[in-house]
Amino acid sequence: MAIVLLPEEVVARIAAGEAVERPASVVKELIENSIDAGATAIHADIIAGGRKLIRISDNGSGIPADEIKLAFKRHATSKLRAAQDLQGLSTLGFRGEALASIAAVSQSTVITRHRGEDMGVSLKLNGGAVQHHKAVGAPVGAVITIENLFFNTPARLKFLKSDATEKRHIQRVVSRYAMAYPKISFALKQDGREQFRSSGRGELADVAAKVFGLKHFKRMLEVSSEETPRRAYPKISVFGYTSQPSLHRNDRSRIILFINGRAIQDHSLSHAIAQAYEGLLKSGSYPLTVLLITMPPDYVDVNVHPTKAEVRFRDASQVFAAVQRAVRRALLDDGGAHADEWPSPASASHYRNDVRPLPAYRSFADDDQYDDADLDYIPETAGAPTRPRTLPLLRVVGQIGAAYIAAEGPAGLYLVDQNAAHERVLHDQIRADVQNETLQTLSPPDSPTLVLSPADTALLTETGAELARLGFEIEVFGPNAFVFRAMPQCLASRPLAEAFPQMLACLRQSQRKLGDVITALAWAAAVRSGQVLKTEEMQSIIRQLERCPSPYQSPTGQTTMIHMTREQLAKEFGRGE
Ligand code: ADP
Ligand code: MG
Repeated sequence: MAIVLLPEEVVARIAAGEAVERPASVVKELIENSIDAGATAIHADIIAGGRKLIRISDNGSGIPADEIKLAFKRHATSKLRAAQDLQGLSTLGFRGEALASIAAVSQSTVITRHRGEDMGVSLKLNGGAVQHHKAVGAPVGAVITIENLFFNTPARLKFLKSDATEKRHIQRVVSRYAMAYPKISFALKQDGREQFRSSGRGELADVAAKVFGLKHFKRMLEVSSEETPRRAYPKISVFGYTSQPSLHRNDRSRIILFINGRAIQDHSLSHAIAQAYEGLLKSGSYPLTVLLITMPPDYVDVNVHPTKAEVRFRDASQVFAAVQRAVRRALLDDGGAHADEWPSPASASHYRNDVRPLPAYRSFADDDQYDDADLDYIPETAGAPTRPRTLPLLRVVGQIGAAYIAAEGPAGLYLVDQNAAHERVLHDQIRADVQNETLQTLSPPDSPTLVLSPADTALLTETGAELARLGFEIEVFGPNAFVFRAMPQCLASRPLAEAFPQMLACLRQSQRKLGDVITALAWAAAVRSGQVLKTEEMQSIIRQLERCPSPYQSPTGQTTMIHMTREQLAKEFGRGE
């Protein structure tokens, strides 16, 4: 086929695949538009999980009659004029893509009257093509109705989950925005039944009590902090509620975060919050939290992904530290913990390269020591064939700079690079699991979708068979877009959108054989430098490293540890032994 520019409808339909993942994403985009239009009341009416009908009505500014057709064109926006406006956005929208994308894959109608005009206008489109356009009487504001979503993209329609799942996603979107904008009154009706309503009185507490349920909300603490801006340190304020340690869940789904009024998903930020509970919650437990975080708009980049749920901070560590301090202060004020058990704020921000306090270092000559070492020892699963030791039994002493594990053994001090060591351990484990066909996989309930670069897409296609052997189940979802139905368990602890492209980047420089894919997977799944580890996590890495055939190097050639013998230590300190 000869090269041609694609017709506008085709471009729009391709773009729609990225921005419009499911009915809830339509609800999100339309609600964001209503918020941007200054609405004080937003109503959502949904039928059949949004498949049949989504109607969002608002009392915002409305759209001027002579701009209505333009609003449905791609890259048409009233919110952005120049590239530099992208830094410092105060609106939720800016791409000018949502309406065009949604209209391309549905039958849509908008009835709107701009607040400066006497007559309203009604516009009806079918798959993006205008069908009617006429003047009508209408109140100020906008009513946008989306019917038969995905009617012209059967593949996407088939992929949608049950109505119940889609309903749940929609409820989540509406209730989250209601918390972020307590001054706006939201109402949600699904299949004719009112599911949610917020008063618009302006109190987050009112809305949070509805969303979490009064019983749970009574066990939540107010978080409120405003940090004074210092040089090179922005004003970050954190307001919201977080649960007492006695109230928790075993997943992060109730950690709800907004940055400048935008719902975001940020794995490391929710990790920072869980970390504020260190010593109060056991590992794998997460609090219930809603936080409205504000910072100067130019401090955060929201233009990372079409759904705008991912953001980048100019300095993530400052944001993590501010959020963590605010949450910790709320917990301390509650008396839920003894103040002296907490690390001081300076050492708390583990995302900076702070040195965390080490437990008092005890000399190896001390005989009691060995008992401690035995207590630290995590027995290997009974019956599992034990590989021979390649290192002596080590005792984890602590973590340094959130990057190194300090351990001691009969032969002295070991400083272990957590990232390289974990990479080694994972690599050997994955290889054994592939050989024995014991590889654990998981099916993420939300089947994440990734959009890859064309080069990464080609690489993915080329290594499809190897990836499948490692437990990946990946489906094509659109041009360069893929749905992850299943993946190896070891990837669970890292955000896929980060880890998978890293894996491909590692793979690109290799021969792309099964062994290379294993190396790349281990590289991408390993804990990162800068990540605070729990003692058990460090112990687990060290226990496994002790039996790796080549414990001193990672499969990508990084040094895993520095060993200082007792003799070297004694010499350094001028003690002839
Ligand atoms: P964006 O929000 O990124 O600008 P959209 O495609 O979502 O792009 O919307 C296009 C334009 O249509 C907006 O910039 C805005 O001017 C107008 N618009 C959309 N929805 C509404 C609404 N509910 N009320 C008023 N104007 C709206
Ligand atoms: Mg928008």
